Amino acid sequence: MRWLVGGEVLDVDAGTFRRVDVGIDPDTGRIAEVGQARPAAGDDLIDVSGRWVLPGLIDCHVHLTLTTDAGDPRADALRTDAAVALDTAAAAERTLRAGITTVRDVGGWNYVEMAVRDAIRRGIAAGPRMFLAGRLLSITTSTVEYYPGMYEVADGADAVRAAARRQLAQGADLIKVMATGAMLSSETEDSRAIQFTLDELRAAVEIAHDNFRHVAAHCHALRGIHQAVEAGVDSIEHGTFADHEALGKMAAAGTVLVPTVCAGELLFRDEHAVATMPDHLLQRMRAFHDLHVETLRRAHELGVTLAMGTDAGTPGNHHGSNAWECVFMRDLVGLTPIDSIRTATTNAARLLRQPDLGHLGVGAHADVIAVDEHPFDDISALTRVSAVVKAGAVVRS
Ligand SMILES: [Zn+2]
Repeated sequence: MRWLVGGEVLDVDAGTFRRVDVGIDPDTGRIAEVGQARPAAGDDLIDVSGRWVLPGLIDCHVHLTLTTDAGDPRADALRTDAAVALDTAAAAERTLRAGITTVRDVGGWNYVEMAVRDAIRRGIAAGPRMFLAGRLLSITTSTVEYYPGMYEVADGADAVRAAARRQLAQGADLIKVMATGAMLSSETEDSRAIQFTLDELRAAVEIAHDNFRHVAAHCHALRGIHQAVEAGVDSIEHGTFADHEALGKMAAAGTVLVPTVCAGELLFRDEHAVATMPDHLLQRMRAFHDLHVETLRRAHELGVTLAMGTDAGTPGNHHGSNAWECVFMRDLVGLTPIDSIRTATTNAARLLRQPDLGHLGVGAHADVIAVDEHPFDDISALTRVSAVVKAGAVVRS
């Protein structure tokens, strides 16, 4: 048995910290006991006295295969798959060491990320638990030249069904669809334009749900959000132009909103990424950022479930800086600290259909982080984790 002793441990549902010890069974990687430590001879004790202990964080929107230093996303387009694999492994390790013990990758690169996931499972690489979409499904668009390894073009409902099946055959855990135009895309693409039709979105949802998988829909445009919710997708990514009616519809349908505020906020803080970003991209990122944050505020007020997602992998949005999203949820969107933490724990686990993630109850996966300051006093403590445990194994202490 491995014991985390002396810490203040978060009960996510109750929203309170309690002075208890956590017993982990290293064989199952799960939490076996919560209470007073009763260590036996040979047990491993990890002292977290005076620290705050939380479930490992879950980021529902990353692109581990993308690098973040260059402002122009096309800089990534010419890499060999071998180079992508090395970049991905490095990104996965940085992400885990920052306390993100689970990620949902919503657009990989030639399935290289699946090889990295398998290497992590075999213990020959370090990284978070990974839920993967494979290639994202898109209509024919000039943006393919920006992300040639990430896009799976499918026009028409039958082609979408076939493309979704191809992702599942490769080992995808979910299906990602581009319901509307993107921001970090070609000059001729418009984020306010509809891409997949309702018919095409329904086709993707049908194949995913028939196979016990969920659907993440990239959506900025208002009508695209309406169509995606109508088609039955499980999460809306970004949601920039959602209005009161669309948000009400999401709340009623239980459609989760994945914010990705980091894509703008961390970009604007990175001088090199800003300086090297093509003009048309920077203009878009600046033009719609405040509106996006305002939309998220209204979404929270209207009772839409938010699940933490960063879009880590976009320019300046570095792997390992993911927990900043929780800070922005608190400081910009106005969530309480515990609600912000819930976006990255219980809400995210529900979206992933993983009841054993996102909390520290008996039987849960032993994915645990510790921070040195009270996160209710300063939520940015989450960006400075001092201990990380994944599946009961110590990543850093
Ligand atoms: Zn994305």
